[in-house]
Amino acid sequence: MIWYPYEQMKTMKTPYKIVDANGVYLYTEDQKLIDSVSSWWSVIHGYKNPELTAAIKEQADKFAHVMLGGLTHEPVLKLSEKLAEFLPGDLDYCFFSDSGSVAVEVSLKMALQYYMNRGETQRTMVLALEHAYHGDTFKAMEVGDDEDYHFVLNAYGKSPYVVHIPTEIDALEKAFETYHDKLNCFVVEPLLQGAGGMRMYDVSFLKRARELCDQYGVLLIFDEVATGFGRTGNRFVADLVLPDILVLGKALTGGYIGHAVTVANHRVYDGFYDDNPVHALMHGPTFMGNALACSVALKSIELFERDDYMAKIRNIEAITRREMQGFSDSRIKEVRMMGGCVCIEVYDPATLNGYQNFAYQNGVFSRPFLNYLYAMVPYVMEEPELVQVLSVMKKWFRGK
Ligand SMILES: *Cc1c(COP(=O)(O)O)cnc(C)c1O
Repeated sequence: MIWYPYEQMKTMKTPYKIVDANGVYLYTEDQKLIDSVSSWWSVIHGYKNPELTAAIKEQADKFAHVMLGGLTHEPVLKLSEKLAEFLPGDLDYCFFSDSGSVAVEVSLKMALQYYMNRGETQRTMVLALEHAYHGDTFKAMEVGDDEDYHFVLNAYGKSPYVVHIPTEIDALEKAFETYHDKLNCFVVEPLLQGAGGMRMYDVSFLKRARELCDQYGVLLIFDEVATGFGRTGNRFVADLVLPDILVLGKALTGGYIGHAVTVANHRVYDGFYDDNPVHALMHGPTFMGNALACSVALKSIELFERDDYMAKIRNIEAITRREMQGFSDSRIKEVRMMGGCVCIEVYDPATLNGYQNFAYQNGVFSRPFLNYLYAMVPYVMEEPELVQVLSVMKKWFRGK
């Protein structure tokens, strides 16, 4: 028996069984569905992309995996080199892991140990955002703030090592005033908070955060597991405001195989680099730097650059804005858009009951959660499919 994610197994409806997937389409035995979720936002090139599939096959014919403990290989060397070049500023040191949650854990461990290595042992606290989602492992849950995901934390109460603030500059300044000598880092999903409800905020908040982090020597971590590779309409939000540590996952994989990376700048790396073995970063997921994952990630970045994906994303945003123009309903609290993400927030989650089945009948796969009906489509989606995804969303409100 499969135990499915985020589901009450007793009441969950039967999941759609996918028998084929190609481009922006998912196929069940009897329906062809436009995918509006990109398999948790990772399948940016669509399914069964011939070039990505060829890259992974080619590597599989050589070897699928060797560990990075004492060994290394061409795909991981190339990917780390490529990322250093592709990412802004001096984000040059790549620590790979097998999932976004683990990559977030690594970033928090890095920030904490950075200060331990310097003897600043009072810096044990993390500043984070309200409504943050950083993954489902324990420290990631602590810096996250979504009771709907992490109610299990109530078992032992809120961590005294994490402070959550809203995305408001006043609250930010106050938190730094109060806690600056205890903070090792400020971790954020920049501009777009995904699983916490597709919440969008202004870059001025991040610019002020960068200034305060500099002023008080606090490390700034961007969790771009969801936002990285164009989702906000920026290649990376790190192109606008430079963090000290950047976490990437989801789209990094092209949707093929679980992989993630925690990228440190020179300052962070230098905080570990000395003759003392105790100052080493003690972490090492078994499948970090997996050769299949690295090969497919390299090809994914190549396509992203070669086929001008940023233009595709601008086009998706323009079509979305045009289609949602003037759309409103008394049950809707807000319609918000940014880059390749659109979200309809409703007042009452019951408003979305039955939507998934309605979308299915209309040839679209969608997975609304709580009060949020959203689309984060593969970047290769063409106008007719995108218009259909958005029309089905609008039709749900008109028809009821
Ligand atoms: C999905 C997500 C994660 C967790 O990634 P997994 O690969 O599911 O562990 C972490 N942070 C953000 C912002 C995410 O959207």
